[in-house]
Amino acid sequence: MKALMQDWSMTLDKILDHAARWHGDREVITRSVEGPIVRAAYADIHAGAKQVSHGLLEAGVKPGDRVATLGWNSNRHLAVWYGTIGIGAVLHSLNPRLFPEQLVYIVNHAGDEMLFADPFCAPLLEEILPQCPTVRRVIFLSDLAHTPNTSFPSESYEPWVAGRPIDAAWGGFDENSAAGLCYTSGTTGNPKGVLYGHRSNYLHTMMSLQPDALNLSARDTVLLIVPMYHANAWGVMYSAPMVGAKLVLPGQKMDGASLHELIETEGVTYSAGVPTNWQMLLAHLKETRGKLTTLQRVTVGGAALPESIILTLRDDYGVDVIQGWGMTETSPLGTVSVPSSKVAKLSIDEQIVYKLKQGRLLCNLDLKLVDDEDRRLPHDGTTFGRLMIKGPTVASGYYGDRHGDALDDEGFFDTGDVSTIDADGYMQITDRAKDVIKSGGEWISSIDVENFAMGHRKAALCAVIGVTHPKWDERPILLVQLKPGQAAEGHEFLDFLDGKIPKWWMPDDVVFVDEIPLGPTGKIDKKLLRQRLTGYSLPFDAAVTR
Ligand code: ADP
Repeated sequence: MKALMQDWSMTLDKILDHAARWHGDREVITRSVEGPIVRAAYADIHAGAKQVSHGLLEAGVKPGDRVATLGWNSNRHLAVWYGTIGIGAVLHSLNPRLFPEQLVYIVNHAGDEMLFADPFCAPLLEEILPQCPTVRRVIFLSDLAHTPNTSFPSESYEPWVAGRPIDAAWGGFDENSAAGLCYTSGTTGNPKGVLYGHRSNYLHTMMSLQPDALNLSARDTVLLIVPMYHANAWGVMYSAPMVGAKLVLPGQKMDGASLHELIETEGVTYSAGVPTNWQMLLAHLKETRGKLTTLQRVTVGGAALPESIILTLRDDYGVDVIQGWGMTETSPLGTVSVPSSKVAKLSIDEQIVYKLKQGRLLCNLDLKLVDDEDRRLPHDGTTFGRLMIKGPTVASGYYGDRHGDALDDEGFFDTGDVSTIDADGYMQITDRAKDVIKSGGEWISSIDVENFAMGHRKAALCAVIGVTHPKWDERPILLVQLKPGQAAEGHEFLDFLDGKIPKWWMPDDVVFVDEIPLGPTGKIDKKLLRQRLTGYSLPFDAAVTR
């Protein structure tokens, strides 16, 4: 029997419609490319997005066409985002930190037709556009005065939208239509396009708003540090307007001082970013003896969360740090480390061990651990296995991939992470499958060793990688970037790790490097680290005797 309820297709344009109509005066604040802080409200963003839609329709953009953006978080970027998806076109957010050849590959693979870019991207566009024949129009996200002169034809956003009507029709298409395209950074092989749908993002928004997930409300002021091009901006482009939270967009300035200024002047209560964002903010606060007077909680994800960030934000600034795990392919939120009813009864210090886990699963999703033969493994908190995930917000395959879907026989997607799941359902990543160190047939978690080493007071950044060993196949070595002005001997780090990790996980060597390279999304680039270590060999005694 069919239910007698109304049809309400879950298309994402409805989210901004709702924000404009019911939270119309809630502000969206941007540190603009022109310099000043710009104040708008959801009603203004909605009107701007409708003008963008008008411009896109006039330019011949049709449902399913790809419209690319290349820039930082801003009110104009937000208007282009909704203006594109509102008419059924696909918003493809590009990462300006990628190498030019990666961008050329991605733009061509996606077949982007129009491109909206921050003015600082002009030199990059000069380099890549001659190799991107599908891009037929480029519009710079600025006023006329700040629009760069380019050798290719380009326009300026403000005059392009000015005076356009705000009545372009939105929605009316199938909720399973594509809405967004986001490429993974391609740390293994070529970047791959994850194609989100209206329905999948709509569901993800409602899942991520749960109290045991991001827990946003109309009372929150949200600083979105996560770039709009990174993993669907963790869904915040949808979740903040859905609940009418005030949104603060930092533009290009993401250094500690600029973020701190925005947090304090705008009364930010919640923020989301990768660990390096918080490390930079904390370094700034320490240097300037700054305070965080309004910030209550932050979600940190994208890479392993060092304990020092949790403790410093909690003890020195009264901010609750909540770890989230996900990936571009999971829209991205999968698990969030909030206390279960059992964990909530522990003391705050006992809870730390759970905060360091990646957390418990959101509703609508399923997880399993499997071994190399795809057999399910127990959830006992110690058995490692490949982490597999399933649900309506998880990719089934990649854009333009001829291999079809990427799922196992039970419909699960392989995350490429190696994890444990404990009896209370807390998932903990022990490694990326490609980074895991296999020593004497057993797995060593590079992430665990890195996290402990990062607790050393002289360490700015640590990375652990496996190197070939004649007897054990692979052994871990620790690479350390020291804090400025510090000097250290390798044994100081080994003594520090002693007792914290199993003996056979102890790195066979400590190598001090000037810089541990970070990839385009702020994570340690182990591929590049390995390349830089070509020709490295283990110290003689370690290689022979261990
Ligand atoms: P890319 O693969 O392009 O870096 P993603 O942003 O999609 O792109 O990265 C997802 C991966 O990031 C996850 O599979 C996992 O390895 C890592 N990750 C995400 N969140 C966490 C976390 N809280 N702790 C440790 N690793 C994480």
